[in-house]
Amino acid sequence: MLWTGGQEIDGGWVLARDGMVAEVGSGPPPKADEVIDAANCVAMPGLVNAHDHMYQWATRGYVPDGTLFEWLRALYPVWARIDADTVRVAARAAAARLLLSGCTLSTDHHYVFPHGKPGIFQALVEAVLELGLRFHPCRGSMSLGESKGGLPPDSVVEEEDPILIHTEAMIARYHDPKPGAMTRVAVAPCSPFSVTPQLMRASAELARKHGVRLHTHVAETIDEEHFCLETFGRRPVDLMEDLGWTGDDVWYAHGIHLSDGEVNLMAATSTGVAHCPSSNMRLGAGVCRVEDLLRAGARVGLGVDGSASNEDANIAMEAHQALLLARAHRASPTALDARTAWRLATKGGADCLGRDDCGTLEEGKCADIACFRVDDLAHVGIKDLLAGLALAPPARAETVVVNGRVVVRDGRLLTGDEDEIAREILATSERLATTD
Ligand SMILES: [Zn+2]
Repeated sequence: MLWTGGQEIDGGWVLARDGMVAEVGSGPPPKADEVIDAANCVAMPGLVNAHDHMYQWATRGYVPDGTLFEWLRALYPVWARIDADTVRVAARAAAARLLLSGCTLSTDHHYVFPHGKPGIFQALVEAVLELGLRFHPCRGSMSLGESKGGLPPDSVVEEEDPILIHTEAMIARYHDPKPGAMTRVAVAPCSPFSVTPQLMRASAELARKHGVRLHTHVAETIDEEHFCLETFGRRPVDLMEDLGWTGDDVWYAHGIHLSDGEVNLMAATSTGVAHCPSSNMRLGAGVCRVEDLLRAGARVGLGVDGSASNEDANIAMEAHQALLLARAHRASPTALDARTAWRLATKGGADCLGRDDCGTLEEGKCADIACFRVDDLAHVGIKDLLAGLALAPPARAETVVVNGRVVVRDGRLLTGDEDEIAREILATSERLATTD
């Protein structure tokens, strides 16, 4: 069955040419140079990951029972030891897991640049592109260290002028504004408790000068709300609005602790929200008001968040978690339905990332496709396939196509050696842990 993001077509097919969808139909398929027979699968638009920190793959399982601030305070000193090679190895692991879960477009929010460790952002971008994932890296930043009243230690924050200069250089080097682009860069100061208001404002100006998008963490925890009220006398969203951080070129991670007025503001300003249910549950952060945001007309996508607060990177799992969490939160089985959960995982994420050429399978869109088996023991015989795929824990994707290129076949990654990636990340994780 083919789900285009709108229609469900039994016996449907997709014809791709030059990385784009040339035609979608049903019945006998047209002739093609390469044919993928996915008769035993549900094929759908490739999943979109709207929030991540790939370097965290090297620091999974730390502070398993801590709040966000406790978890961050314990991890900042470990993260202070990362370098370009750590980030390369971790990004390969995270991107491999994303591809194997059916993700075809991912962002990454990288904000840790320890002093004297060059080439981190380049290592991230090159590692992910090498595996064949469509990629929107965010040049993140932290500038409000402990000595100035922020949460992170001074050892992991940067000076503001070099941040802006490096961000501009990375936009010049990697940002491709054209339709069908494989790489786009966004500007992403980390959070209200790790960045000064001045850097937030300067980052917005820089992004708008270059026509690139803006991303940050907002309203993730009550601790953050207290920090903003005590430090700036403003709630997090009010602060962001003051600093020019609402609009259709902005998307936030989390957006949990929003008032009714703030929910309506997200919709009225077309500011996107990346809902990260696994991370929010792991850290006990709260529950995003997905149903209210959708009813208000806001853009909502899904994110895995960093794997240090998820222990995985699987967007199909986030669709599953979002579906169940919304129902538990509202004590109602109609709070969120499976098709909406899949739309959050596809077009919702593409909307957050500003990709009107991704998120659905239609003529002229990117040929990014995920196929999930439905003839195996876990799924065979399920009456409603799309509902079954969201309600049951997800399996690996069977086939994944990015930009018209097959990158996962028979549930195996074609662009990298999974065992080698696992060996490398084990060595890297142990190295970071043993110097703890
Ligand atoms: Zn995050």
